[in-house]
Amino acid sequence: MVVGPDRDGAADQLIDPFGRHVSYLRVSVTDRCDFRCVYCMSENMAFLPKKDLLSLEELDRLCSAFVSRGVRRLRITGGEPLVRKNIMWLFRALSRHLGTGALDELTLTTNGSQLQRFADELYDLGVRRVNVSLDTLNPERFKAITRWGDYTQVMGGIEAARKAGLHVKINAVALKGVNDDEYDEMIRWAHGRGMDLTLIETMPMGDIDGDRSNQYLPLSVVQDRLMDNWTLKDIPYKTGGPARYVEVRETGGKIGFITPMTHNFCESCNRVRLTCTGTLYMCLGQDASADLRAPLRASEADDMLIEAIDHAIFRKPKGHDFIIDRRTKRPSVSRHMSVTGG
Ligand code: SAM
Ligand code: SF4
Repeated sequence: MVVGPDRDGAADQLIDPFGRHVSYLRVSVTDRCDFRCVYCMSENMAFLPKKDLLSLEELDRLCSAFVSRGVRRLRITGGEPLVRKNIMWLFRALSRHLGTGALDELTLTTNGSQLQRFADELYDLGVRRVNVSLDTLNPERFKAITRWGDYTQVMGGIEAARKAGLHVKINAVALKGVNDDEYDEMIRWAHGRGMDLTLIETMPMGDIDGDRSNQYLPLSVVQDRLMDNWTLKDIPYKTGGPARYVEVRETGGKIGFITPMTHNFCESCNRVRLTCTGTLYMCLGQDASADLRAPLRASEADDMLIEAIDHAIFRKPKGHDFIIDRRTKRPSVSRHMSVTGG
């Protein structure tokens, strides 16, 4: 019986039991955030005590261990990654793997609030693409969705990122009755500035102050509606993530659809997610996890850590079982998206 990973068969790569090559690591560097988006968090969140967080040095060591096992793309996320103190130290440390060619891409997902401060430095450190989450172009709605966000600051952040030379992609969660009358305008706005737009289905993760079934909007419905106004062409474009892209003939820009609910994309999943306490989640929608903090701290050498990573990948689940309906009151997983960073 096979009880562990076959190191001989995958000497320098992480291959899971379903033959999927894990080449992408997303790292949530903090569970904290300066916003409280209604679909992501409740207003009164209990965050981890700061002493429980891995240090930036430890996060660097962990990420570097994954790079040594064949991970080619790193995405820094959160919570809000740019509110973690001294976060540029981590970007600087990790950028050495871009220099050696071990890493193809170092990138981040952000709410944009701190981009005016950090955009130039991110570019200097080798970051070329950023995903900025923005669900509306209406300042009042923005306040209602993010609760604590400052619209002008985020818009300034997006401009600063573009000016710094970063390629910006806008991510918007599709929310019924909240922003579903805005996608045409968002397409015009984003594509008019050379930014692609990705729409995301809301996922049942963590308790929020409300019923998700009121917010859930299948993107199959959205795409049908968009076709009334735009000519959409399926294209094979991929950015290494789960989005399916169409090109809009009228603008020349792209729209991505991330559809975990209506179309399960798990068969091509290439990623795992690390939390700021060193827990590795092998699937966004399942509880399967592995503690990497203990092997990280047990020895200064990386052997135990790498063995733990290999064993974790060997337990990567086949896929998620997300459900949003009126009968299912509990989220599919109890942790919030801010724990694993989406
Ligand atoms: N704070 C950063 C941001 O907002 O971009 C990074 C972390 S945030 C958790 C990453 C992405 O997850 C954001 O685009 C956000 O809209 C999305 N997200 C959060 N909760 C979600 C949920 N329940 N379903 C779908 N997307 C969610
Ligand atoms: Fe913060 Fe991002 Fe969650 Fe909004 S989606 S509360 S910005 S972590």
